[in-house]
Amino acid sequence: TELFQPERANSQGFDLSHAPTLARVNTAREAFHTHSWQAAPLLAGPVAADPAQPVENPADAQDTPGTVAPASAADVATALGAATPWAASPEERAAVLNRAADLYEEHFGELFALLAREAGKSLRDSVAELREAVDFLRYYAVNRPEAEPVGLFTCISPWNFPLAIFTGQISAALACGNAVLAKPAEQTPLIAHRAVALLHEAGVPASALQLLPGGGAVGAALTSDARVGGVAFTGSTATALKIRSAMAQHMAPGAPLIAETGGLNAMIVDSTALPEQAVQAIVESAFQSAGQRCSALRCLYVQEDIAEDLLKMLQGAMDALSLGDPWLFSTDCGPVIDETARAGIRDHIDIARHEGRVIKELQAPQGGIFVAPTLIAVPGIGALKREIFGPVLHVARFRAGELDRVIGEINATGYGLTFGLQTRIDDRVQHVTEQVHAGNLYVNRNQIGAIVGSQPFGGEGLSGTGPKAGGPHYLGRFCAVPVRETAT
Ligand code: GLU
Repeated sequence: TELFQPERANSQGFDLSHAPTLARVNTAREAFHTHSWQAAPLLAGPVAADPAQPVENPADAQDTPGTVAPASAADVATALGAATPWAASPEERAAVLNRAADLYEEHFGELFALLAREAGKSLRDSVAELREAVDFLRYYAVNRPEAEPVGLFTCISPWNFPLAIFTGQISAALACGNAVLAKPAEQTPLIAHRAVALLHEAGVPASALQLLPGGGAVGAALTSDARVGGVAFTGSTATALKIRSAMAQHMAPGAPLIAETGGLNAMIVDSTALPEQAVQAIVESAFQSAGQRCSALRCLYVQEDIAEDLLKMLQGAMDALSLGDPWLFSTDCGPVIDETARAGIRDHIDIARHEGRVIKELQAPQGGIFVAPTLIAVPGIGALKREIFGPVLHVARFRAGELDRVIGEINATGYGLTFGLQTRIDDRVQHVTEQVHAGNLYVNRNQIGAIVGSQPFGGEGLSGTGPKAGGPHYLGRFCAVPVRETAT
């Protein structure tokens, strides 16, 4: 399939280094600085939601961006009964998705405010996230295959990309003509509610797209019903396996599960790497978005010969990071999503500190759910027993001649999401990128921020089922395999 599509261009986003643009973004966002949003189920039938609860701002304990009324069991039943595949022609569906992309772009100020106040996203991350959401809408609109929809899709999305991944799953299913039941992450219902309202405004029928905010019980109900034909899920590997077993019990044997799950991602920096380039790539990969990306760098392998110098530079770069309120343009690293997340990351750091393995730890700001960027020494990536979803970077060293051992350790994790390499030896680029199991490989740059259409995102092994989001094979999984034949 051709990746280049002349009828589609990626969203331009906003150039925040251009002062008038930054001023325009800030003015538009400011209008929503103290706004309060209310999320509730959006159903093609009567709503009987549970009582509304406050939604928290992870960066500011004093701020409540809004409330959410979670879907009740009755709401789930209503949604399942009312869901109707989208009958419009493929061209009409594409036009609606493109219109939704325009609406998203028009509402940038509100969406940036939501991303900051509900998800703790820095302005830089928010700009990239809106672009990605818009790109998904426009890419799937023109990429649709000539095939029948599966029927009804459940889409379960994560809080770390509450607009982009949420929109990506939904728009893929809708582009193929499916009906969608969307369950956003429990931590980020407000932005999901706003996104679905914009999709409805663009022309997606209420019966083709219903929103069911809630927690694990809602997710379980939406993945264990015979009327559901397939599930798209992004989140932990453990939850993906639970969904798979629920689907096996309740759904048709061929029901697709499109899962994008965790990673234990490494970067190798050899002695020929450009140190300034490597340090910038490491800092962005490990600490941007407070490390809350499944693509984020978790274990850096640095060649012994340059390790002292490189780690010194890295610590200097960490000292220059600005931590705190994501509303401020100057903030590099905002909060982690909630107390449970912080406690899990802190436990991990505490154990390392107790064992004398903490190389560097910054000071966490007060007033929100912050974890300070931290460097921890490890013998190798095998020492990481789980994905630490936060601003914690592990560092291992290797000697000349040990590259294949390092590659073996990386592959032995069983994950295969992102991988980074910093080197100036061409043959090594070839060798290492051929040997390492990863969906997205990055050479001499950071290893986050895949781009719809040009660099689809997804992994292998424990990291997901493929096909990759934002790539040419993704929509095929949202379609039924043709089986009908008539013998005469
Ligand atoms: N697509 C994102 C990236 O390339 C990561 C998605 C995720 O964290 O789930 O950084």
